[in-house]
Amino acid sequence: MKTVECPVCEADVEIAADAIVGEIVECADCGTELEVISLDPVTVEEAPEVEEDWGE
Ligand SMILES: [Zn+2]
Repeated sequence: MKTVECPVCEADVEIAADAIVGEIVECADCGTELEVISLDPVTVEEAPEVEEDWGE
């Protein structure tokens, strides 16, 4: 298990040891979905909103 700093709230987010690039993890602290963009070092960024019914 690795941890990475949440870019939104700066909490430590746990990343599974077998995580892959493109994997979505959720920050337990603020609930933001984060996409793994790099594994060495582990880097995440806020995932784009892809809710199906993201209407107005
Ligand atoms: Zn967070």
